[in-house]
Amino acid sequence: MSQAGGQGTLFVISAPSGAGKTSLVSEMLRQDAQLGVSVSHTTRALREGERSGVNYHFVSRGEFEAMIARGEFLEHADVFGNYYGTSQVWVRETLARGQDVILEIDWQGAEQVRRLIPECLSIFIVPPSAQVLRERLVGRGTDAPEVVERRLSEAEEECRHAVEFDYLVVNDDFNVALADLLAIVRSRRLKMSVQQNRHSRLLAGLAGSV
Ligand code: GDP
Ligand code: ADP
Ligand code: 5GP
Repeated sequence: MSQAGGQGTLFVISAPSGAGKTSLVSEMLRQDAQLGVSVSHTTRALREGERSGVNYHFVSRGEFEAMIARGEFLEHADVFGNYYGTSQVWVRETLARGQDVILEIDWQGAEQVRRLIPECLSIFIVPPSAQVLRERLVGRGTDAPEVVERRLSEAEEECRHAVEFDYLVVNDDFNVALADLLAIVRSRRLKMSVQQNRHSRLLAGLAGSV
């Protein structure tokens, strides 16, 4: 997929579970109307307070496997024993409309997306320590103790892939991490390859060629 011709930018955000990516992304969306987030499909159970179609599209394993067979996912992966996947059509259509898109996906999905869409920009978020990660996962109060333990042991594997990402953000102070993420988005939008397209008439006018 080319990013020429008014294409939006694809931002891929990964982090160990509990690092704060969902809270940070929801605040980014509140502060930046040009950003959209892809609502993934998952086979995991709905948490209290979550709604299908808002946090995730919650589907059965059978429905998910049928979607894989129909080629409906841009990427999909098995994370903590459940399937998670990104809708191919929604992402491509939203980028084609010129909107920037965030994917909140795991490292396996990020690897697939980087291969399919090399122009994407990838960001890894880490907590300030393993102890803080544990406190946040427990404090969130959404997962049973054995689920928390599984997510913590998988966190080490996730973090081993951090260096494959373009940017690293440490979520210690929430507002600092939020400002870092918004700065990455803003600097991407100011790149010549993007601005040249957006301001083609201005540049041509100033250069005396219209
Ligand atoms: P949370 O990240 O702790 O809130 O837990 P979730 O159950 O919401 O997500 C678990 C993991 O699945 C996280 O690492 C997410 O980044 C990942 N994930 C969510 N959606 C997708 C997706 O569409 N594709 C892939 N590959 N991973 C996903
Ligand atoms: P993820 O989506 O990466 O699993 P969440 O956004 O659900 O993480 O955050 C996990 C928990 O940590 C939530 O209860 C959230 O309110 C809290 N949290 C997020 N960022 C911070 C921060 N900088 N300081 C303290 N707590 C935080
Ligand atoms: P609310 O209390 O309305 O759910 O959250 C308000 C905002 O604060 C949310 O957008 C959320 O992303 C953010 N937030 C979540 N956890 C923390 C935290 O621990 N510290 C700070 N400073 N903000 C947080």
